Amino acid sequence: MVWEVFENKVVRELVETYRPVWSIGHALALLGWDSETYMPRRGVEERALSRADLFVLRRRMLLRKELLDLLERAEAAEGLNEFEEGVVRVIRREVRIASSLPEEFVFEFAKLREEATHAWRHAKEKDDYDAFKPYLARIVEYARRMADYLGWEGHPYNALLDLYEEGLTIEDVDRVFDSIIPVLRSVYESVRSRGLYPENHPLESVEYDTRVMEAVNREVLDLLGYPWDRGRLDVSPHPFTISMGVDDVRITTRYEGKNFKHTLYAVIHEFGHALYELQIDGRLKASPLASGASLGVHESQSRFWENVVGRSREFVSMMSPILRKRLEFLSGYSDEDLYFYVNTVKPGFIRVEADELTYNFHIFLRYKLEKDLVAGEIGVEDLPELWNGLMEELLGIKPRTYKEGVLQDIHWSHGSIGYFPTYTLGTVLAAQIKAALDRRLGGLYKTLESEGAGPVREGLRELIHQYGKTYPPKTLVEKSLGEPMNPEYYNEYIREKFAKA
Ligand code: MG
Repeated sequence: MVWEVFENKVVRELVETYRPVWSIGHALALLGWDSETYMPRRGVEERALSRADLFVLRRRMLLRKELLDLLERAEAAEGLNEFEEGVVRVIRREVRIASSLPEEFVFEFAKLREEATHAWRHAKEKDDYDAFKPYLARIVEYARRMADYLGWEGHPYNALLDLYEEGLTIEDVDRVFDSIIPVLRSVYESVRSRGLYPENHPLESVEYDTRVMEAVNREVLDLLGYPWDRGRLDVSPHPFTISMGVDDVRITTRYEGKNFKHTLYAVIHEFGHALYELQIDGRLKASPLASGASLGVHESQSRFWENVVGRSREFVSMMSPILRKRLEFLSGYSDEDLYFYVNTVKPGFIRVEADELTYNFHIFLRYKLEKDLVAGEIGVEDLPELWNGLMEELLGIKPRTYKEGVLQDIHWSHGSIGYFPTYTLGTVLAAQIKAALDRRLGGLYKTLESEGAGPVREGLRELIHQYGKTYPPKTLVEKSLGEPMNPEYYNEYIREKFAKA
């Protein structure tokens, strides 16, 4: 590694000393990818053990005296450039988090997460909430203990929010929801009463051949510019992106066998995540700065490609020759028909299948529930009923099974509590980024039509991607977009697309 951006001798030594930490992270990412894709079912027990051990080793490597001494010296250094300051900030934050969590706790939690994920998968298959409940209860208990170890002010949930989104608090999240939920409610009402976007579309029940659909997905990734020598497309029950490093960023999708927009838009979504990692400045490779700024900023990238780009008339028309060539059942459907197929608005139970307009209701629900779970105001035994009640209040529908309700997401089994709000932050930020690119490119959609995805990728690289973790998320947003996160851009985007149509 050359690391020419780290000129200061102490910082460079710090980055070199940190590298084994990065390497264990690299290995953990690969093991995680394998667990979700190709690992034989019974490999779970040994995998859980080895990953839990690696988490502990990573922690020990991070808390070595040699590294802590260098960190202190780097903090005392003057005249550091922005990358160097970023390194010091990121490592200090990791050290603070790691040193607040006892080794035994880290090991036990990692093992619990792996077992809970396995249990969740079985419970979901059998629609058996009782089978997952004891695992979830322990996950919540561990999340709460983690918040206490990390320290918190106001509400234990704040400690968990900060883990996923540096500096994020309940006040920030409430401010966003307070702004967007009333707008979403009124636009949703108007769309439904006026029938602007269809609730159902004949294409939703059409079956596809999985191999043909995979070829479509690959060609759409070509259209977007996914570099196959630095990535892969595989299959997993829950689509995800994982970065082993800036030159190995893999995505997955799933194939349900019908309603092809689900697998297609999962691919476009994950492409957005992957592009972020792939466009980080190569000079930051294998350093503490070589990943996205935060989960919210990450989700802004996936939502931007999935919704702002992917569900636009312009992009649907760009994609339609690929779709028509391979999917014979599309003959007779115009581009405008396809546009309405990918933009149906219908209350549904499943978050990952939700349309652009109702998606944030699903997040709002999870945010309310997990905040109360962590505070101990509700217990896991109350969840199904509370979940169903909120669904009815927000979307007017009531789940009939656990699969359609409380068992649908993998996140809680992963121990990821405090993660869901970053989805809404990302959605809101995506609209703000659209406004910035409109200014920069002289019209995002016009540029997309005339020049393809290239200038859009380049605009995002310059505004957001290149910096990796150099700046904390709030600083990055202000620096790149000229103002702090502002949900008004999202409200305007939603009104424009759904209410004025
Ligand atoms: Mg995502």
